[in-house]
Amino acid sequence: MALARAKRLPPLHLSLNVPTRPAVQEPPSRQQANPPLAGPQSASTPLARSSQFRLADFDRLAVLGRGNGGTVYKVRHRETCALYALKVLHQGDAAATEADILGRTASPFVVRCHSVLPAGSGDVALLLELADGGSLDAVRRRRGAFAEAALAEVAAQALSGLAYLHARRIVHLDVKPANLLATAAGEVKVADFGIARVLSRAGDLCTSYVGTAAYMSPERFDPDAHGGHYDPCGADVWSLGVTVLELLMGRYPLLPAGQQPNWAALMCAICFGEPPALPDGAASPELRSFIAACLQKDYRRRASVAELLAHPFVAERDVLASRRSLQQLVAEV
Ligand code: ATP
Ligand code: MG
Repeated sequence: MALARAKRLPPLHLSLNVPTRPAVQEPPSRQQANPPLAGPQSASTPLARSSQFRLADFDRLAVLGRGNGGTVYKVRHRETCALYALKVLHQGDAAATEADILGRTASPFVVRCHSVLPAGSGDVALLLELADGGSLDAVRRRRGAFAEAALAEVAAQALSGLAYLHARRIVHLDVKPANLLATAAGEVKVADFGIARVLSRAGDLCTSYVGTAAYMSPERFDPDAHGGHYDPCGADVWSLGVTVLELLMGRYPLLPAGQQPNWAALMCAICFGEPPALPDGAASPELRSFIAACLQKDYRRRASVAELLAHPFVAERDVLASRRSLQQLVAEV
């Protein structure tokens, strides 16, 4: 899947002034016998201390993911044993964009950034809250297709994240299962702001042609057919629709199983094809209607995030059952 990312220099030594959220902690058996009281996770304002973080304070425990932008590690703060994700980004535009946007956000539906640390040679490291369930892509690979109840929870929380972002004129432009993170508590968080944009005015159109081709809406894939620009909020809705359909089917949905996702095949499928017909019994009428509302080819007829939050598939879900279903999926077997 082609990804293109622009380049510009990242800022260094940036501490983010966003509200706090406790870091994930190691189970008691793996913590120090007498952890200090003033650690980042025990203080009520860890970000007030964020400028005190140094890369040297963390042990790298595992690689959580590698992407275009850099590498994400699971790390442990030596003094407090608090667990975080550390995204080390090569010097460039994506790093600056991501640090800038995460500095503007504080929502339970958006991955939290505690600090931005210099990482040598101009690289930067984002100290992120750890989503202990990994990405929804990883959950899908591990557990297969999602139950409909879990999908309703994914849709509800991802839409809440997008509503929060869009209200701040932030458009993500790369919504896909690998960029939605889950926790064992059944939370979903929008992540990876490497190609996100802050619009200058609400209602601005966009011309950016970066992102993951397979999840791009028709008007992004072929902007010339739509006057050269598009509504980026509607583009995020399309990508979420593809994401939900992928998690329902257990595989990328817009191409036949096994077909190479090359540019030409994706262009045909996204711009000229129809989403696959789901067999009887594969989805409720509410889910079918939700997916159809997201995957309207004409972006002017596509549902908005607000309309989707009010859609019966989301608004009338059994919240407790949906959350439990997602927790069960995310939990390791
Ligand atoms: P890509 O180029 O593939 O989009 P990227 O370099 O921009 O990736 P991310 O998407 O932010 O990086 O992270 C890559 C992967 O690392 C994610 O798909 C996820 O599996 C893992 N990851 C990232 N952030 C976290 C986090 N906070 N908690 C747990 N896992 C994470
Ligand atoms: Mg990513």
